[in-house]
Amino acid sequence: MSLNDTINWVPEHVKEGRFGNWLANNIDWALSRERYWGTPLPVWECEACKHREAVGSVKELSEKAGRDLSELDLHRPYVDQVHWDCSECGGKMRRVPDLIDVWFDSGSMPVAQWHYPFENKEKFESQFPADYICEAVDQTRGWFYSLHAISTLLFGEVSFKNVICLGLIQDAEGQKMSKSKGNIVVPWDVLSAHGADAFRWYLYTATPPGNERRFSSDLVGEIIRSFTLTLWNVYSFFVTYANLDKPTVTTLPIATSDLDRWLLSELNVLVRDVTEAYEKYDVPNATRPIEAFVEKMSTWYLRRSRRRFWKSESDSDKQAAYSTLYTALVTVAKLLAPSMPFLADELYQNLVRSVDEAAPESVHLAEWPAVLPEMIDESLNQDMALVMRLVSLGHSARQKANRKVRQPLAEAAFSVGNASERAAVETYADLFMDELNVKQVRLLDSSTEALLHTVKPLPKQLGQKYGNKFPAIQKAILAMNAEEAAHKLLEENSLKVQVNGESYDVLPEEVEVKALAKEGFAVAEEGAYVAALVTELTPELAQEGLAREFVRRVQDLRKSADLDVADRIELFVEASAGLRVAVEAHREYITVETLTSNLVFGSPPQGAATVEDGFEGEKVTVGLVKQ
Ligand SMILES: [Zn+2]
Repeated sequence: MSLNDTINWVPEHVKEGRFGNWLANNIDWALSRERYWGTPLPVWECEACKHREAVGSVKELSEKAGRDLSELDLHRPYVDQVHWDCSECGGKMRRVPDLIDVWFDSGSMPVAQWHYPFENKEKFESQFPADYICEAVDQTRGWFYSLHAISTLLFGEVSFKNVICLGLIQDAEGQKMSKSKGNIVVPWDVLSAHGADAFRWYLYTATPPGNERRFSSDLVGEIIRSFTLTLWNVYSFFVTYANLDKPTVTTLPIATSDLDRWLLSELNVLVRDVTEAYEKYDVPNATRPIEAFVEKMSTWYLRRSRRRFWKSESDSDKQAAYSTLYTALVTVAKLLAPSMPFLADELYQNLVRSVDEAAPESVHLAEWPAVLPEMIDESLNQDMALVMRLVSLGHSARQKANRKVRQPLAEAAFSVGNASERAAVETYADLFMDELNVKQVRLLDSSTEALLHTVKPLPKQLGQKYGNKFPAIQKAILAMNAEEAAHKLLEENSLKVQVNGESYDVLPEEVEVKALAKEGFAVAEEGAYVAALVTELTPELAQEGLAREFVRRVQDLRKSADLDVADRIELFVEASAGLRVAVEAHREYITVETLTSNLVFGSPPQGAATVEDGFEGEKVTVGLVKQ
């Protein structure tokens, strides 16, 4: 039991719980079994006087039997044919018929595999005790115990320093898998359909290893859609543009923008957290953060940086973007090596080996990435997390107002928590303007400027809980200041309600909070955060929206005409009056965005790629010719 205290159990509760209790209430281990197949018990007994001898080696057995038994098969029936005369009475010594319990074999594995102590002393000593073992929870009284008990008896030492104790795998409905029920999943089917990497990643990330887990081939397939493809798309974006630009990339990038500094800061947080988790044998926390990072890299860093890769001049900003993304991808490949070994090496071979012959042959031979603490900027990470959160709220507000992102709006206003968050809204105003396509960003004067809240006590939940006291509690909640009550509940706090001298804690899930946007705003909120967009369109905003819609049609046409990203074009436009005015007003924006050298109002020539379309009540025919 005192040795067990020194073992790192995952999950931790097994140490004191299932395993600790078993040790505390230990019962005698009957070593013998009445079986035929297995390891014979090496005990011989005299037929006449019952004198017993235990034999410790083949050499000792040979000496007793008076012949060389080094070639003897030590199993039954052969070993039972070895006899000698009793040293006490001269009677016949016969082996007892019993075998050793097979669990004893399993627990003897660390010594038996090396035939220790007869051979391989150094090899055994260099590998014992084991750093890490892993098996399912049903082994607590089996293999985990037999290893621990035997090593304690023999050496007074643990047999393993770390152990991951796995929960059992169930089918997709949470039922135990069984052959007779026909609900087993054949591993080869999963491997053939989704590959070993996705299979492994699912097992690492789905639940902590000690939990029982549901499993189906479809759940593994989700990994490919949600994670693998996201990473692959970022990688393939980098490769596509790097092949065009042939940039000089470095893995010690100089960050020139907040965006680069932020990605490298998040990357070093990732290296730190993943490394710490692996050192603690905490598999979900060594893998899930990689998923979160890749999501941020794809939906924020890359999306915000695309233009830096697209632009034609190769300045230091472009070089910084290449180096930052390169560093992130190479580091992610290394962090993925233990959990997605095939994909990790595929990324590494192309990103590293193809440009550096001196690099280690495989990601699995490369050094584990080191944390660069000086690159971590926690306050920048917090600010950017807030920006992403508010942007996502802004987009939901837009959706509620049914306004596409391409349509510029006059203003976005936010309500946030503390002073540093208010400062971040001002610092990153440009980013909000660009992301949300608004002309102005500000803080809401008060959280009630753009919306009003109502609270409605839920009769089902509260009625069940408080019975005939419910009407009085309901009345008391409705009598409260609705805004104050709503904010408490939205921040996941309970509501203190006083009724007839008694106090009740009403929980957030027992009251429905509704937000009503005020006239002219579209609003979305989450906890303490509110994003409000001014929805009214001025004629200028409407025109700009039309120009952006037009650009999208041209970009689609470029794609369907199979143009290269860098090809320049001549553009022919026939448009209804409103759209023509918009195109003229935003001529420069349109020509820059679509790489147009010459924009002509008139019908496209023969052989031009063309498209006809209508939007926002306008009509257009667009034709393009590659230059
Ligand atoms: Zn005897």
